[in-house]
Amino acid sequence: RALPNRKVIAPFSCARVNRCATRATAKLIDGKFIAETIRKEIKEEVEVLKAKHNLTPGLAVVLVGQRKDSETYVRNKKKACQEVGFNSFGKDLPADITEQDLLKVVEDFNADPKVHGVLVQLPLPKHINEKKILDAISLEKDVDGFHPLNLGFLAMRGSNPLFVPCTPKGCIELLERYKVPIAGKRAVVIGRSNIVGTPAALLLQRRDATVTVIHSRTRDPARICAEADIVIAACGSAEMIRGDWIKPGAVVIDVGINAKTDTTSPRGYRLVGDVHFEEAAAKASLITPVPGGVGPMTIAMLLQNTLEGAKRAIKQ
Ligand code: NAP
Repeated sequence: RALPNRKVIAPFSCARVNRCATRATAKLIDGKFIAETIRKEIKEEVEVLKAKHNLTPGLAVVLVGQRKDSETYVRNKKKACQEVGFNSFGKDLPADITEQDLLKVVEDFNADPKVHGVLVQLPLPKHINEKKILDAISLEKDVDGFHPLNLGFLAMRGSNPLFVPCTPKGCIELLERYKVPIAGKRAVVIGRSNIVGTPAALLLQRRDATVTVIHSRTRDPARICAEADIVIAACGSAEMIRGDWIKPGAVVIDVGINAKTDTTSPRGYRLVGDVHFEEAAAKASLITPVPGGVGPMTIAMLLQNTLEGAKRAIKQ
């Protein structure tokens, strides 16, 4: 049976925008809906892979130490694997593990044919050289896309990375599923980290946008941002991007996840993005909410990368 068509247009939901800002002009980019759609598509593809090739995609997740946030991320990743029918392999290692022993764990997963993706949950304890560990993940299993060669291939014209980092890949997927034109458009990425900002800028450039990257030393960022048709915000600063940074009709993708004190919330805080949602929604044509925008896409893209790794393994 034919693999399902992965491109769908989500129904727009303006409920959140309308609740938050009466002056809103933006439609909401529903990342939760798109991520659920992608997970269903992946599940169907996995059934086909199992039936036709007797192959089950496998993801290995390595956790070092007992950071509560890392434990939650790892648990969610494993659960997501099980839901789509992947094999999930895990190693929960003590915080005092030596670098050498951790390298051995990575090498064992590299060599295991049942494993198509290897992910080491960051951050690692201080005595371990993070770069050394990430570099040790086999290029063919680097589902996080953090290997310098994968990032290098992303930057080079005429070459393709085996994997693209999940969060920026999710941003582009949202733009594409909402049929936002990218070629020839002015795009601004706020942030230049290796895991979000830089790959997001490269992905937009590969799709023929004219890209400007704003960082902490950029002068007059609001003026530069206000020229952009597409804004990807990933600076890790709560609600920094205000309404006057947004060109009327721009498309805004907010990667930021920040806790903001909110005494009306039972938890005492609420999650906000790097964009001031209400102000930006009054100017933008499309905007992602926080939560429910980019966040759910990250795990969906991790699953997609693992599936791609498994499909490549058939061809070898
Ligand atoms: P990061 O490594 O801290 O990088 C932040 C970047 O923003 C840096 O390049 C920094 O510039 C720039 N920046 C900081 N303050 C700025 C300012 N005032 N003006 C302009 N640029 C500024 O952060 P990250 O890991 O890329 O994450 C960014 C945000 O995305 C965070 O809120 C994080 O929680 C969120 N995130 C979400 C997901 C998800 O799944 N949704 C995944 C990853 C990250 P310099 O380079 O000059 O220092």
